[in-house]
Amino acid sequence: MTEVTKFYPLLTGKSCYEKTLSTRDRGTGQIIEAPILVYLIETKNGRILYDVGCDYNKICGPNLRHYYYNNFLFGPPEMEPDQQIPNYLDKLGLRELDIDIVFCGHLHFDHAGGLCEFSHAEIHVHRTELKAAKDQADEAYFLDDFSGDYHWHEINAEYNLVGGVRAIETPGHTSGHMSLYIELPKGQPIIIAGDAADLMENIENEIAPGLCWENNVDLAIRSIRKLKRISRETGAELWPNHDIQFYNKMRQFPSFYE
Ligand SMILES: [Zn+2]
Repeated sequence: MTEVTKFYPLLTGKSCYEKTLSTRDRGTGQIIEAPILVYLIETKNGRILYDVGCDYNKICGPNLRHYYYNNFLFGPPEMEPDQQIPNYLDKLGLRELDIDIVFCGHLHFDHAGGLCEFSHAEIHVHRTELKAAKDQADEAYFLDDFSGDYHWHEINAEYNLVGGVRAIETPGHTSGHMSLYIELPKGQPIIIAGDAADLMENIENEIAPGLCWENNVDLAIRSIRKLKRISRETGAELWPNHDIQFYNKMRQFPSFYE
């Protein structure tokens, strides 16, 4: 029996970049708009966030913005003040302290930047991901995002966070990338692919992300196939993570899935 009660996708910002960053060797010169999503999972046994988006201070403080994004592979994402996670929580009558677990699919800046709001929570991350991030395996890791005094819960295998919420290892985009399978109380299960699949095109055509850990394209494609197999076997919907068309069809906050 699932312990999940409600599931909210939250839009925390948008970024624009060349499509090749999402679909390897496809879309040169084509700029796409990508949502930066976070997911709030309410359960009978605590609240979980999948990812925490960007650090608002690095986007809106002029000095930090210059430092982090001036020479970056693409410009700073856009993030409206009311797209910060605490503002979404506030609208639900919740505070940061009401989040028990932050599950980081991976630690790139647009996924782990918001950790600074959740220093009280248990932060779940794959052991190899934390190591790759600290080793600065690629330039999308901002060391400062995850170097604070956090309550890390390092994992090195698939496991259930609570009943009906299962971590799935999907390395490829990064060393220790994880997706999440969520069984809802009423509707179809949902798999958050995370950056194992930015776009529906990655899933349908089995295209690797532009950025692959150690350029291991095969590993990334194996993870996409693994997610498709789990989706087939369980009847779960497989959700891409940075697909604006897909996002536009999702239930928008404060609507939720149950
Ligand atoms: Zn990433």
